[in-house]
Amino acid sequence: MSGAKVAFAGSRMDRADHIRQSPEKLAELMDHRARLLLLEGLDPVIGEDCTLGWGSLADADPAAELVFLGLNGGRGCFAPVPLAGSVSPPNPRLWQAMATLSPEELAIYGGARSMVDWHARHRHCARCGNSTVLAKGGWQRNCTSPDCKAEHFPRVDPVTIMLVEHNGHILLGRQPRFPAGNYSALAGFVEPGETIEEAVAREVSEEAGVAVRDVSYVMSQPWPFPSSLMIGCHAWADDPKVTVDETELEDARWFSRAEVEEAMVAAKAGGKGQAFGAPPPSAVAHHLLNWWVERG
Ligand SMILES: [Zn+2]
Repeated sequence: MSGAKVAFAGSRMDRADHIRQSPEKLAELMDHRARLLLLEGLDPVIGEDCTLGWGSLADADPAAELVFLGLNGGRGCFAPVPLAGSVSPPNPRLWQAMATLSPEELAIYGGARSMVDWHARHRHCARCGNSTVLAKGGWQRNCTSPDCKAEHFPRVDPVTIMLVEHNGHILLGRQPRFPAGNYSALAGFVEPGETIEEAVAREVSEEAGVAVRDVSYVMSQPWPFPSSLMIGCHAWADDPKVTVDETELEDARWFSRAEVEEAMVAAKAGGKGQAFGAPPPSAVAHHLLNWWVERG
């Protein structure tokens, strides 16, 4: 793949798995040099210099659990889990705020957000209902019941997102919640018992009534709302007849290479193309469309 990097990826922080495994090493790192990512609930605190706000561990609420994010310049970096009941609805200005961050800072924030959100939603054991406690620097939670002792791990939810191609055209759909005129790649969660290829074929069949073959992987993107991994794929269709599932999509149709090229030029300038509005660079669909255009 070429072009700009996908959003929420590219953090150079050392995840330092060996430290997660060692309570002694972890305790040593939690000194006056340690850095605390400042969060308001799940949202970043961004300074006037458009960078993530960091403090010391003394800035954390004493009741807050801390997640070890990794090492940066030899210093331990941590993020506070929001206290029970303190997570507010998504801030409508979150996207504006994130847009000011550098790609690397956005990646650090996205990973931290997924982690602290998972902890905030897993205070009780899914097996027995007893309380759980943070373990291994936050890369695990353990059930406190001596009869259960279940171990729980931060989850990543795979989502397939695909460009389906037929005769120089790409199939895109629009959901009712999209801005007027916008279209994007079809997408859906991988279900238990499916391969990525099977999930792609099922989603395209369900949403657009199109059969696909020769599914291939193109690129991926973490999407921390709350913990998706977008798996970008390409597939071929032999029969272009579209039957839209109107419970999922408002419309789905084929766009020519010229239409996509024009829409991508407009999207990079923050606007809409003549035929449709393409997804913004924060979305992996934008990079998939770029990949397709550049591939020629
Ligand atoms: Zn349990």
